[in-house]
Amino acid sequence: IERTFSIIKPDATNRNITGAVNAVIEKAGLRIVAQKRVLWSREQAEKFYEEHAQRSFYGELCDFMTSAPIVCQVLEGENAIAKYREVMGATDPAEAAEGTIRKLFALSKGENSVHGSDSPTSAQREIALNFSDSEIV
Ligand code: ATP
Ligand code: MG
Repeated sequence: IERTFSIIKPDATNRNITGAVNAVIEKAGLRIVAQKRVLWSREQAEKFYEEHAQRSFYGELCDFMTSAPIVCQVLEGENAIAKYREVMGATDPAEAAEGTIRKLFALSKGENSVHGSDSPTSAQREIALNFSDSEIV
């Protein structure tokens, strides 16, 4: 059994569709074992996305991720990391497969509704940055 870190991003919380996103997650067999709605500080967003610091969209990405509350989650299941990447769909909704969260809900490459860890190392880092052990049940 594996855990991954998920974010329901501001474009989705603004449109009041966190429940609709969670329905897709649960239907895929992933269990939400931690969940909280938070407003990130600039520092939290910059730290979380530090691997993208040199990318052209880094400033825009940090602006977006601090523009409204997000819902942070830990998802658990068989191959949770790869499975959730599949359920999310491609970064660009124009390229996302039918039935994926991004195909269903994303507005653009930037405002793409969800984040999911891309490796076991990332998952461990991202969970530790956002949750204490006692919050994951
Ligand atoms: P995430 O890390 O959020 O799960 P991802 O792994 O599919 O998404 P990354 O390449 O890690 O995509 O980029 C991180 C995030 O940065 C994307 O989800 C998106 O919100 C934003 N992003 C990526 N590329 C662009 C771009 N060209 N223009 C604007 N924003 C972008
Ligand atoms: Mg990524």
